[in-house]
Amino acid sequence: MPDSFDIVIVGGGPVGSTLSYLLSKKGYNVALIEEHREIGIPVHCAGLLGKRAWDSLPIKPSHSIIEKVSSFKIFSFKGEEIEIPKFTGYVVDRSVFDKGICASAVETGVSPYKSTRCVAYSKLQPPEIICKTYSGLRRRFRGRVIVGADGALSKVAKIFGFPPLPVRFGLQLIAGPVSDLDSVEVHFLRLGSINTFYWIIPSPKEVKVGIVFPLNINFGSVRNLLRKEALNKKLTTRRFSTWFLPTKPRRKTVKGRTLLVGDAAGQNKPLSFGGIFFGVSAAKIAAKNIVMFLEENKRLTLYEKEWRKFLLNKIRIGLIGRTVFENYLPNELERFFQRIKESESEIINLWDIDSQEKLLFHLFKKSFSPYFLMRKSIFKLFIAIPYIFTIAF
Ligand SMILES: Cc1cc2nc3c(=O)[nH]c(=O)nc-3n(C[C@H](O)[C@H](O)[C@H](O)COP(=O)(O)OP(=O)(O)OC[C@H]3O[C@@H](n4cnc5c(N)ncnc54)[C@H](O)[C@@H]3O)c2cc1C
Repeated sequence: MPDSFDIVIVGGGPVGSTLSYLLSKKGYNVALIEEHREIGIPVHCAGLLGKRAWDSLPIKPSHSIIEKVSSFKIFSFKGEEIEIPKFTGYVVDRSVFDKGICASAVETGVSPYKSTRCVAYSKLQPPEIICKTYSGLRRRFRGRVIVGADGALSKVAKIFGFPPLPVRFGLQLIAGPVSDLDSVEVHFLRLGSINTFYWIIPSPKEVKVGIVFPLNINFGSVRNLLRKEALNKKLTTRRFSTWFLPTKPRRKTVKGRTLLVGDAAGQNKPLSFGGIFFGVSAAKIAAKNIVMFLEENKRLTLYEKEWRKFLLNKIRIGLIGRTVFENYLPNELERFFQRIKESESEIINLWDIDSQEKLLFHLFKKSFSPYFLMRKSIFKLFIAIPYIFTIAF
């Protein structure tokens, strides 16, 4: 016999746990299925949240904050610097953060199933998913709604026939000892044929040096590059961690009684790939629409309509920004960097890591000066246009 629930959520990350908490608080019977023995382990994430993201969390595990950062520095290819002094960011220990959210969910009555991996589903109404436990036991879970909050390589998406999501690697070097670093740093660099950046995030426990890159770039060379950058900062390598990040949102996130949320739905910031803010925002929308579906028989696709309305413009602008950034020639970007550095105060005022569209608009306006249009990189924009149409519409 299957275990029956109102809602079965696969994935005990921050998004799945938040959604389970919100639904359980409304009185629903929720199962939260997590393949690992321990919530929050292994950690792949840098754990940086802007103030807006932190304030928006329905559950704030304050004990997970390991550093409050008040400055953000951006370095051009040639090491020119723009400092954002008014920045407020929180670095959280992701394992403590995830555990904290899940513990609050369990307190409200969510049933957690750890060491339980979703592997298949059977075509029944309501749908049933089939899981395997670490001890090899097969378990079936029946839910009036099934949610895939199981990350970028979502098994739920795969078994329910959603098309695959394009992903990139996120590689992070955990380094030490902790030196006098007190700002988040972002350094532009050229990797293969694209421009990208690596980040340095300090905390009293460790320093994280990380980068996101396409799957066709040689993994070993990127590891060496991060190691070299860490050595330049007089840091020593402790270990590497890697995981996948979605590169764009899914067109379809609802199918029958199944919906996807968080990284599984491709809901992350296109420039930095940070997904906690967008994923948790979408989880709140999902909770509201699941309740409307179960109580008022409203369509579940309203979730998709609503999260798109809330996030899609932010994502579209970010994707345009990313495409332009990745494809411009470094020396032209360097010149552009010099130009914006002259009016640094405008950048400082518009800087918001959780809502990057205002700054991007400003930069687009600046780049469309006659001076800049004379440069040959403008032709690269033509690469962006069809891309933008395929991703955004
Ligand atoms: C190197 C790196 C650095 C990052 N830094 C930041 C950052 O600083 N700030 C930020 O906001 N974001 C950051 N991110 C992105 C962030 O980690 C994700 O956006 C966020 O974790 C998404 O949350 P989620 O709950 O949707 O998915 P996840 O956190 O991926 O959680 C999915 C859960 O589902 C479980 N699962 C998967 N498959 C199954 C299955 N078949 N059955 C059962 N359980 C399953 C997994 O074990 C996992 O616990 C970073 C990512 C990487 C890779």
